[in-house]
Amino acid sequence: MNDSPSVDRLCIHTITTKPLALEEAIDTYAAAGVRGVTVWADAMAQLGPQAAGDRIRGAGMQVVSLCRGGFFVSDDKTRRMEAVKATRAMMEDAAQLGAPHVVLVCGADPAVPLDVARGQIRDAIETLLPDAERLGVRLAVEPLHPMYADTRSAIVTLGQANDLVEALAHDSVGVAIDVYHLWWDDALQNEIARCGERIMAFHVSDWKSPTTDLLNDRGLMGEGCIPIRRIRGWVESAGFLGPIEVEIFSIARWAGDQREFVRDIVDAYGAHV
Ligand code: ZN
Repeated sequence: MNDSPSVDRLCIHTITTKPLALEEAIDTYAAAGVRGVTVWADAMAQLGPQAAGDRIRGAGMQVVSLCRGGFFVSDDKTRRMEAVKATRAMMEDAAQLGAPHVVLVCGADPAVPLDVARGQIRDAIETLLPDAERLGVRLAVEPLHPMYADTRSAIVTLGQANDLVEALAHDSVGVAIDVYHLWWDDALQNEIARCGERIMAFHVSDWKSPTTDLLNDRGLMGEGCIPIRRIRGWVESAGFLGPIEVEIFSIARWAGDQREFVRDIVDAYGAHV
């Protein structure tokens, strides 16, 4: 697998160009030849989901996903119910936006043991399955890097995500594979093969070495140590040929020129993805 992916598959997550308003992001991506957009929920605050979706499609791009629901884990039952409610509202927004799925950051709470947390996540997703069917919006479980196991996700490997999704056994639930979170795992190739048709999304960025911030120092593809092209090969072998989504949380990049950054993304996509 040494060829570059088709540019038709290039998608950018709006958080990547956080300083741009959604309309500016849409125009900038379309001008650079990008074909898909993943929308960070906060970015729709001004336009609203319906208008945001129309605007994206009007610019010749597809809506790839809405980010992000979840945060289902808490030692407080009321908070768990609120998280389900908030995710349901986000699924309704996704339906209006025209996003096929909502990405889930499943949640964690330092006060809740990880095995109990995974049970809470399963219960919450199960509660939302009828909504997923009603709305025609699927849920993509995104395992996060284990450095986030305290407060963001008790699901930290693709193996755990596969266990969860297999236990739920429902067409409306699948996985999102993000190289930033999963590149270190020696079971990754096998677990990607295990996903098969359950892969709903593929996210790329790079792991800078040294990395200076646990949340907001992701690298542009090629700037770090992740074998992105190799992992893409595994994902394609599993059957996923959908959008390849660039998702870069970076304080350094947000401080720079966003139009130049989008051009760098297009170049790095061709060279390193
Ligand atoms: Zn991601």
